[in-house]
Amino acid sequence: MKELIEQALSRFEAVGDQWTNAHGSMVKHSSYVYLWTPPHTSIKSVKKIGLTLQAITHGNEVGGITSLTECMKLIRAGVVKPDISMAFVLGNPAAALENRRFLESDLNRSFGSKGTSLEGQRAAHLESILNETDYLLDFHQTIEESAQPFFIFPYTAPGLAFARAAHADVSVVTHWGKPFSLDGMCTDEFVNFNGGTGITIELGKKGFDPYQCSVGLQAALGAIHYVQDMLSHQYQPATTESPLYTWKAIVLFEEGMDLSEGLYNFQPIEKGQVIGVHGDKPLLAAESGSLLFPKFHRDQRAPRPREIYRIAKRIGLSDLGQPGVVGV
Ligand SMILES: [Zn+2]
Repeated sequence: MKELIEQALSRFEAVGDQWTNAHGSMVKHSSYVYLWTPPHTSIKSVKKIGLTLQAITHGNEVGGITSLTECMKLIRAGVVKPDISMAFVLGNPAAALENRRFLESDLNRSFGSKGTSLEGQRAAHLESILNETDYLLDFHQTIEESAQPFFIFPYTAPGLAFARAAHADVSVVTHWGKPFSLDGMCTDEFVNFNGGTGITIELGKKGFDPYQCSVGLQAALGAIHYVQDMLSHQYQPATTESPLYTWKAIVLFEEGMDLSEGLYNFQPIEKGQVIGVHGDKPLLAAESGSLLFPKFHRDQRAPRPREIYRIAKRIGLSDLGQPGVVGV
């Protein structure tokens, strides 16, 4: 795996660095951060960067690297000609090289925190890009298998429109009601906090996978179109609407809880179904819906996570922002 990750990182850099005589101009801003500007900009972004595409905010969620690299290659070849300024960012390459989520602290809880860990310093550096970003699409992957890719982000109306336009076939999981915390935001929260629109996509189980790469590339190209249309005031709302979900239950870990092997993201679950053990008793599903983020205790040295699984439910547009749904 280490070799595959090294190759993916160096391909990303090689595409960014070899831009002579190619479409637009690509400038290396800093380590694994590239800024692209079109040859003639007719569309003016509100901030300096119209669209930022970011991957490996979690170091071992490497699939998004290839989606970004393929997107850059299409632009370099002049096949795709965005009319907006863009940034291509790899969040935590140091952790990726060790195939770990993070080295010292979770980068995706480090924005705005002024932390001193390796990830705190990386966040402070990337903030200069995210501060200047109108739209952010951050590429993640899940720990376990997923029956489908999905967008996930704190609800905002512009975020929902952005996600649905970026990839109309990908479901949206969204949530609200969590008070804003200034000590450690996710990338999307940080962009929203600074007046942009940030969303996250989960492509599927972590690793390199051609299907996931193509979903990510489609979302990147969809995002380019959407941002161009929005910034040039040409956007026509889509008529199709991808499925919308929010949390129905977030189940916290209690001593003795363990999930059954093989559970996966978006698995249909019935309330009361046996999904593991709780000491010498069966662990019963708290609600009916779609299972999300099942957590297994694979690394015995690692502390148990705070929660063990979530159940998501389908909702309609009128449910958004309504009370009675679990906030996290
Ligand atoms: Zn992630």
